[in-house]
Amino acid sequence: DMVGNSDIALIGVAVMGQNLILNMNDHGFVVCAFNRTVSKVHDFLNNEAKGTKVIGAESLEDMVSKLKKPRRIILLVKAGQAVDDFIDKLVPLLEPGDIIIDGGNSEYRDTTRRCKSLKEKNLLFVGSGVSGGEDGARYGPSLMPGGHKDAWPHIKDIFQSIACKVGTGEPCCDWVGDEGAGHFVKMVHNGIEYGDMQLICEAYHLMKDVLCMDHNEMAQAFDQWNKTELDSFLIEITANILKFKDADGTHLLPKIRDSAGQKGTGKWTAISALEYGAPVTLIGEAVFARCLSSLKDERVQASKNLTGPQGVKFTGNKAQFLEDIRKVGWDLKYGSVISILAMNKGHESFIRSVFLGKIKEAFDRNSELQSLLLDNFFSKAVQDCQDSWRGVVSTGVQQGIPMPCFTTALSFYDGYRHEMLPANLLQAQRDYFGAHTYELLSNPGKFNHTNWTGHG
Ligand code: NAP
Repeated sequence: DMVGNSDIALIGVAVMGQNLILNMNDHGFVVCAFNRTVSKVHDFLNNEAKGTKVIGAESLEDMVSKLKKPRRIILLVKAGQAVDDFIDKLVPLLEPGDIIIDGGNSEYRDTTRRCKSLKEKNLLFVGSGVSGGEDGARYGPSLMPGGHKDAWPHIKDIFQSIACKVGTGEPCCDWVGDEGAGHFVKMVHNGIEYGDMQLICEAYHLMKDVLCMDHNEMAQAFDQWNKTELDSFLIEITANILKFKDADGTHLLPKIRDSAGQKGTGKWTAISALEYGAPVTLIGEAVFARCLSSLKDERVQASKNLTGPQGVKFTGNKAQFLEDIRKVGWDLKYGSVISILAMNKGHESFIRSVFLGKIKEAFDRNSELQSLLLDNFFSKAVQDCQDSWRGVVSTGVQQGIPMPCFTTALSFYDGYRHEMLPANLLQAQRDYFGAHTYELLSNPGKFNHTNWTGHG
């Protein structure tokens, strides 16, 4: 009889839930599965989970009765109303100290709200980012839990054992912070992915339309890049996508409609950046690039009316230009990260949970580091790449290639490294039309107003 023997329950037996259950089972935990449509629990137990220690529940009451105390319950359901609905149904069935974990892609403000309201009922709420998709969930996701800190000692063992491991076996999972912090980090993590993807798209556009490379040549270039510092999952899948042939033997990629969708995490990251006043321009541009791409019909119309540069041909050294694009890509891989750190200064767990390698090393050297650009390794890297970067951007601009992320990142860099920006004029303008006052460089902290139209 299984009453009270399960280590943890998971609600939501869809793709992510099933894989996470099997992962927890592999690590020796007894998992009780439940789903709104209960027949899916039976299907799962009779198929994917056959021969495992996973058990099922017929109802929430049944599920709760099968759990050890304090009860640990993970929700992996569609973000939004479904999460609130399950919380409302669970609350009357639980006891003080029980733990509800939301592993879905919830908005961090929702997580903060749920955390506060459950705290009043003496229940411990955790919102955890779960990254790595289906495969990650099955064999080792990166986990970003945050919320009521008292929950952490009770879930740490399960979380860290199922998470992916890096280096010497360090788990990609640590406590991120209070309330919605876990989902905030997951949101930013997805936002960075928007940036990385758009940068790769711009490199592809330059290869295709400036260097006139064919699909095999481009695939080869990305394969080559993947053997350098640029080695990453997104570069690897890009090479494979470029190689892929349709049933009719021609490349599939050029037949795909150039209109990108989005689920919102990039947009939320950009909105947060605006709210916090953090110049995360690269991710903002990546989101806007998707918006522009989705105006397909309007662009088709515009392409008939608006002209670009005429008859400009690339006359430089193609191999050198390709190498320049690669160098920019390497810079910008970190560039997307560099600007985001303005939002999370000194948040060490943030760095640990999302970034690896060189970035972690930079923060190990100086945990108070304000920006990666101020770390010697990264400032030298940008120094070494910037001629390439400027060259690629100028050529692209001359040829009329849109490169919102390549260019905004360069402007960010140039703005960041300027001791003096033209905002002195801006302050003068604000004071002129709105008497908003200004400070003098020679007398900071003291605010002046000038009668700009007066005479003497
Ligand atoms: P999903 O398609 O987002 O959601 C399906 C699950 O949600 C089913 O269990 C479904 O129950 C339940 N559900 C939907 N609406 C409901 C409602 N109104 N009331 C109660 N239950 C409801 O599943 P998923 O792709 O496995 O993702 C689960 C969560 O993980 C989501 O928040 C998703 O954003 C997040 N996530 C997904 C990925 C990914 O790669 N797919 C990666 C990271 C995070 P029924 O079977 O009864 O319909």
